[in-house]
Amino acid sequence: MTAQIIDGRAMGAEIKAELHDDVGHYIEEQGKAPGLVIVLVGGDTASGVYSKAILRVAEEVGIRTRLEQLPARTSSEELRALLLQLNNDDDTQGIIVQMPLPAHLSQKMVADTIAAAKDIDGISPRSAGNLFLSLPSLLPSTAAAVMAILERLHIPLAGKRAVILGRSNVVGKPLAMMLLQKNATVTVCHSHTTNLSDYTQQADVLVTAVGRVNLVTADMVRPGAVVIDVGINALPGGGIVGDVDIASVEQVASALTPTPGGVGPLTNIMLLKQCMQAAWWQAKGENELDSQPVRINLRNVHHHL
Ligand code: NAD
Repeated sequence: MTAQIIDGRAMGAEIKAELHDDVGHYIEEQGKAPGLVIVLVGGDTASGVYSKAILRVAEEVGIRTRLEQLPARTSSEELRALLLQLNNDDDTQGIIVQMPLPAHLSQKMVADTIAAAKDIDGISPRSAGNLFLSLPSLLPSTAAAVMAILERLHIPLAGKRAVILGRSNVVGKPLAMMLLQKNATVTVCHSHTTNLSDYTQQADVLVTAVGRVNLVTADMVRPGAVVIDVGINALPGGGIVGDVDIASVEQVASALTPTPGGVGPLTNIMLLKQCMQAAWWQAKGENELDSQPVRINLRNVHHHL
């Protein structure tokens, strides 16, 4: 078997075009485009490059953008005050705070302060809790990108075995919840998992989000499995590869994502899709995401169990 190599760039272009249309509908209804603010504290070069990439795609789809560049010495109180001001700003529908923050600033403070309704990175405890409870939620974009690939390729998930390598708060854990919502049987492996291939060989869908070159080789993959490679590893001589040994795995899998050109190109687009979702929920007054206490309709929550 030679695997279908999934074209993340083509899929990204498709979703971008849909997003552009959606922004158009929003402007027709609301009279102005949704607004996205990226907060960048200090001079982390990678975050700066990443911010610019998001801003460029946002402008292409018609989302209004603003970069709030703060000096590295910004105090916790100043950052918190800015976030509170953005929470209350009717011109701002989505907020991203770029990580890593300078050491004296706490990621937890940021996650606790951003209004869940505007938390388009899905980092706040309320967003994570909503996802955990199968309530409407803004989603971490990389995990959402993996789901978008699976959905667009019509990969069956109900009753299938999904194995995730990596349990981070931004990829592995939220993805496990999203796959559970699609009725897959989900296994999450991590740095303490022994005999990784015992699990990976069971997978109909195998997702790796670890960051280790050649972690997944052909002998670990069930014939016909769909393999999604989230990992990004910089090579010493330049260039990037994923976690999957593509040359061997493509002989066994039915479909797989390359690196670069797989999950990566979808991540920023899914982030902006979250911004659009946030804008619609706010426009329709559905700010339930922030309501206190969370009202849970247990009948709705249990229908997936
Ligand atoms: P992380 O470092 O927070 O998490 C890595 C996870 O891998 C941990 O949960 C750890 O337990 C697990 N792990 C480590 N060794 C393992 C092993 N031998 N077997 C199984 N699991 C093991 O990283 P992250 O932020 O989740 O990112 C994971 C990878 O995905 C990185 O390479 C990162 O660069 C990449 N990434 C890509 C995108 C994208 O847009 N494509 C976005 C985010 C992250």
